[in-house]
Amino acid sequence: MEMTRSLKERGVRLTRQRQVLLNLIDQSGQHLDAETLYLRARETDPKLNRVTVYRTLKMLKESGLVDELDLLHKDGDQHYYETRMKREHAHVICLRCGKVEEYFGEPLARLRKEVEETFGFEILLVRTEIGGYCSHCQALRAEEMEQAKSA
Ligand SMILES: [Zn+2]
Ligand SMILES: [Zn+2]
Repeated sequence: MEMTRSLKERGVRLTRQRQVLLNLIDQSGQHLDAETLYLRARETDPKLNRVTVYRTLKMLKESGLVDELDLLHKDGDQHYYETRMKREHAHVICLRCGKVEEYFGEPLARLRKEVEETFGFEILLVRTEIGGYCSHCQALRAEEMEQAKSA
């Protein structure tokens, strides 16, 4: 398996808790917060407690297996987790409904290259977050403004 191999290369020991959490994060394909991950992990292993889950997430982050995102704090101080096995992408976040889209377009690679060349920089980490309103929320906002005007 792709992920297990890359773990071995990094010399990371996979305890059962780490494996459970890593699988959850990898398979969800979403950006789950720590509390949701804790609840889901408990379905797999009822013995897991909250402290262990939070500590394991921290360890996964520190060993570079998982990215911790704030997604522009769309829901307060929550942090969200996703595996770093995924191809580089930007997060496009609706600040009204909290929907998160992933943009995988080629300009991201171009931006990385340009920054490297311009600053002679060795990039280890890129995090691109774009906030605004999704098309659904734009329509709702337009409606709300109409109603406010006629009220
Ligand atoms: Zn929205
Ligand atoms: Zn993502």
